[in-house]
Amino acid sequence: MSTLQQAISCVSDYDPDALPVAKANEVIRSFIDPVSGVEKLPVRAALGRVLAKDIVSPIDVPSHDNSAMDGYAVRSADLPRAEAITFTEIGAAFAGKEFAGKVGTGQCVRVMTGAVMPEGTDTVVIQEAVAADGERITIPPGQEPGQNRRLAGEDLQKGKPALRSGTLLRPAELGLIASLGIGEVSVRRKLKVAFFSTGDELVSVGKKLKAGEVYDSNRYTLWGMLTRLGCEVIDLGVVRDDPKKLEAAFRRAAAEADAVVTSGGVSVGEADFTKQMMAKLGEVVFWKIAMRPGRPMAFGRIRARGKSAYLFGLPGNPVAVMVTFYHFVRGALLTLMGRSDTDLPLLRAKAETAMRKKPGRTEYQRGILELKNGEWSVRLTGAQGSGILSSMSEANCFVVLAHEQGAVKAGDYLEVMVMDGLV
Ligand code: AMP
Ligand code: MG
Repeated sequence: MSTLQQAISCVSDYDPDALPVAKANEVIRSFIDPVSGVEKLPVRAALGRVLAKDIVSPIDVPSHDNSAMDGYAVRSADLPRAEAITFTEIGAAFAGKEFAGKVGTGQCVRVMTGAVMPEGTDTVVIQEAVAADGERITIPPGQEPGQNRRLAGEDLQKGKPALRSGTLLRPAELGLIASLGIGEVSVRRKLKVAFFSTGDELVSVGKKLKAGEVYDSNRYTLWGMLTRLGCEVIDLGVVRDDPKKLEAAFRRAAAEADAVVTSGGVSVGEADFTKQMMAKLGEVVFWKIAMRPGRPMAFGRIRARGKSAYLFGLPGNPVAVMVTFYHFVRGALLTLMGRSDTDLPLLRAKAETAMRKKPGRTEYQRGILELKNGEWSVRLTGAQGSGILSSMSEANCFVVLAHEQGAVKAGDYLEVMVMDGLV
């Protein structure tokens, strides 16, 4: 296990006052070790979990050469070259019901999709291509040897890895595992993530607001994002801006969870006492990240009762919480879960309007992506303030304005990240 200082010292030009997004992620990833716990689950119960060991195929899939179409199986040596040839149909084969005999020259067998290729045959002529008159089946020229036949092992080969450790088990993987006849899989245990909100102004839903108070919405967005990421969540509620209460919450989180995500308390005015307390509990850095929204952030590891948890101290503003979660915490938690792939694709889209942007920071503006005249086109949701949560709700994508990017003109192409799939 490396120390945070070691992880940071590997990053060139480290500047805690203007850390590029990519560098922050580099530090985070190099500091994080996946959880080691593994459990065996029936295939369906493993949906959404991360495979803990490679699955080596115990069989070929498909296990036999079989027909890809409804038609007639023949020997490729018999296929007509210049003129049509009439074959004699000697039987039929269905999926799950083989043709027992052997096929000789000039003979064919009626086959349905999935039927094992009758002995001697290697080619299927689709039923629509032939002229059938009782048992006399006339096949025209123009057929390719081996056509419409699926080869044994063309999907998965016996003895080869069918799925790699670190793979997320989606519906496709459940089916693939079942196609191997495997009923149980080894997956990483679920990640336990504690979260809480900090702030003297916060009021829980169900109570009346007084002047200067706001409802605690971050615990709802965080709960939603963590739950959809597949974490076991521990909700530690609202913690007042009081060093003793904060310390108790952090100690509990460190003892009970693999990671803790907090909101608020990392901005300039509040960070001082959080910093002092963090120095007591573990190794934590306070960063100003070159991004918008979401500039201040804390990251590290805290300890209590012989246990430890990774800490993500997010800003308090509701949009900043979501943006920093998606662009730092999400990838870090997936790495912790043992996932081997965490990056999301960016799409190119045309800007409908100009956008202001200064080089030297990454911006994640909230956008609406739409297909217009056969091309993806994006506009902003309106006010982009980091407290305007309705911008997240209206948006279906982040407009990702890269670190070096300057102002955007209407009609320029830029990169967007679709929110579906982000959790
Ligand atoms: P802070 O980072 O604690 O200075 O908070 C920045 C802004 O976000 C302030 O306007 C807070 O009232 C607001 N805020 C902080 N935490 C929450 C929360 N849990 N729900 C809604 N707004 C919050
Ligand atoms: Mg606060």
